[in-house]
Amino acid sequence: MKSAHGNGSGTLYIVATPIGNLEDLSPRASAVLSRVAVIAAEDTRHSGRLLQHLGIRKPMIALHDHNERDRAAQVLDRLEGGDDVALISDAGTPLISDPGFVLVRQARERGVRVTPVPGPCALVAALSAAGLPTDRFLFAGFLPAKRGARRTELESLADTSATLVFYESPHRILETVAEIRDVMGATRELVLGRELTKTFETFYAGEAGEVCEAIERDPNGARGEFVVMVGGAPLKADAGESGEVNTDKLLSLLMAELPVKKVAKIVAELTGRPKNELYQRALTLKAE
Ligand code: SAM
Repeated sequence: MKSAHGNGSGTLYIVATPIGNLEDLSPRASAVLSRVAVIAAEDTRHSGRLLQHLGIRKPMIALHDHNERDRAAQVLDRLEGGDDVALISDAGTPLISDPGFVLVRQARERGVRVTPVPGPCALVAALSAAGLPTDRFLFAGFLPAKRGARRTELESLADTSATLVFYESPHRILETVAEIRDVMGATRELVLGRELTKTFETFYAGEAGEVCEAIERDPNGARGEFVVMVGGAPLKADAGESGEVNTDKLLSLLMAELPVKKVAKIVAELTGRPKNELYQRALTLKAE
């Protein structure tokens, strides 16, 4: 194990920046960006505008997907020479579908202190307001661009009971949403968070078939940035004849007599399914 303290190196700060609304930059992020010796940024021109808005002038190092290995070495030299460095990306939290993994990994391997300055992140912002269960979610980043690979990936995730979260670009959103409907079914819960924290922030929520129609109809439907969230696969309602338990029915029957928490505990023991999942399902049934 490597300790990162007291070795004379500087600190690498992983700083989250706004995903649209500049007021979301935290005072701590601003203070750290003002204090460090150098800022490593995905796109120095893009981030230069943010820094200008903050009145911060600093030397910058461009660190993006195509040069991360070389530039990580340069940044590590600065850190090991005692300089503090901040890493930022174009928007949101670095390393979340953004560059920085190589740098953070190597910094940790060399015992350099790495510390987060948390803040905006599109997936967390979207989930926090979507109204889908958040006790368990699976963030799968961007789906593959090629149709076949995308479908295979969706098929492999179709039975997951956790809420699924994807990032998507505007030029593929219609195709992706149609594919989710085809692979996971027209009645699967789907929520799209578009242009979060910006002027035209919009949430589309409903069954996959309805959401598909809604964004196809909306002239602005395929504009802006999207977070795509899919409700987890419903617990299978078992056929009575198979002798298996119909979980939904059991939850509903017990809920008429007992508090939801107790119901989830009992059904978890009976079926071997995770208690949290049953608790969320019971809440959904209750709301319905
Ligand atoms: N690191 C960023 C974060 O913390 O969210 C994500 C960077 S990733 C390259 C860009 C993707 O994030 C976009 O294609 C979109 O899916 C999502 N995204 C970023 N900002 C968004 C916003 N304001 N509204 C909706 N989605 C957004």
